Amino acid sequence: TYVVTDNCIRCKYMDCVEVCPVDCFYEGENMLVIHPDECIDCGVCEPECPAEAIFPDTGANLESWLDLNAKYAELW
Ligand code: SF4
Repeated sequence: TYVVTDNCIRCKYMDCVEVCPVDCFYEGENMLVIHPDECIDCGVCEPECPAEAIFPDTGANLESWLDLNAKYAELW
């Protein structure tokens, strides 16, 4: 899955939402998040994000952000 991180906070450009083929972006308290079970890993949103806030959840230390994305996505 892909993960939205802190650069998204108070950004709300929504470019990512427009390009996502499966509409798996949800609104958190002050940022957008990706539903980890709905994301199909297409990668289309990553270069579209003007804040460079979106990353694949591989390698890097993104576990806490992945948890937050999941939490906000379920709350929607
Ligand atoms: Fe949507 Fe693809 Fe981005 Fe996943 S990687 S959030 S499916 S645009």
